[in-house]
Amino acid sequence: MFESITQGLTGALDALRGQTKLTEKNIADSLGQVRQALLEADVAYDVAKSFTDRVTENAIGRKVLNSINPGQQLVGVVYEELIHLMGPVDHSLHLAGKDEVTVIMLCGLQGSGKTTTCGKLSRILMNSGRRPMMVAADLQRPAAIEQLKTLGGQLDVPVHFEDPQGNSAVNVCRNGLKAAKAAGNIDTLILDTAGRLHIDDDLMKELEQIDNRLHPKQVLFVCDAMTGQDAVNSAKAFNEALELDGVILTKLDGDARGGAALSVKHVTGVPIKYVGVGEQLDKLQEFHPDRMAERILG
Ligand code: GDP
Repeated sequence: MFESITQGLTGALDALRGQTKLTEKNIADSLGQVRQALLEADVAYDVAKSFTDRVTENAIGRKVLNSINPGQQLVGVVYEELIHLMGPVDHSLHLAGKDEVTVIMLCGLQGSGKTTTCGKLSRILMNSGRRPMMVAADLQRPAAIEQLKTLGGQLDVPVHFEDPQGNSAVNVCRNGLKAAKAAGNIDTLILDTAGRLHIDDDLMKELEQIDNRLHPKQVLFVCDAMTGQDAVNSAKAFNEALELDGVILTKLDGDARGGAALSVKHVTGVPIKYVGVGEQLDKLQEFHPDRMAERILG
């Protein structure tokens, strides 16, 4: 999917870039290819269509056809529209004051990068003067608890964990919140929840329970940019069940060119806040649509 969006767009745009003479016809042809690339990447038809309509309108409005370098200018219009489609940006985690504990819940499919992102987010919060605690509420994957404890040790961030045997995730989260309040110096609680390989009812019920009991200020969906259609479908399902506040797109250091940013923003309507660009703890960055547009255009 991501190859197709990128190849489609770059193919169509490369042809345009070199053109010194553009006609309404070759603009329409190229934008037809752009639209096709978006459709193949599972961007909804109306979004793909309104995207190319807006590009055409802007191109005509700016008299791109008569400009000295029309191909280059049209590429510029496509770039601006991509930014528009992935915006507006809202990096804020809407944290409450330091005298209370703000709860942030991370959710997503197994392997998407939730546990790692808990650590990365803690690091960012600490660097901005917050005092985070992490909660190991992924009871499905015993290794996740150990992994979070290790990250906590590396960062010097406390981790609330319990024996998963006969326990429930909501219980662990509730106790985690109690522990954070009792500690007195914790202002942010990050919940590392369970994922599954695929969405199932039990997982969604568990996450809904946590959401209902803990009322997280932010529910962030962690999604692997490499997983194509799965990323888009799971974003949709999680958003329907949990009303997401934002998305964190991981593994952008890999081959994925960023088409997921377009589709996921469209299906959820919530902003992409951060992107993961590596396994290490310092590899979480604020999302910038302009950088992503450059990446998509190649
Ligand atoms: P979880 O099952 O959702 O908790 O996923 P993990 O946090 O265990 O991550 C799964 C794998 O993805 C691990 O090997 C992580 O090191 C890796 N990972 C997470 N985020 C990134 C990222 O931004 N880039 C890369 N290259 N790997 C990542």
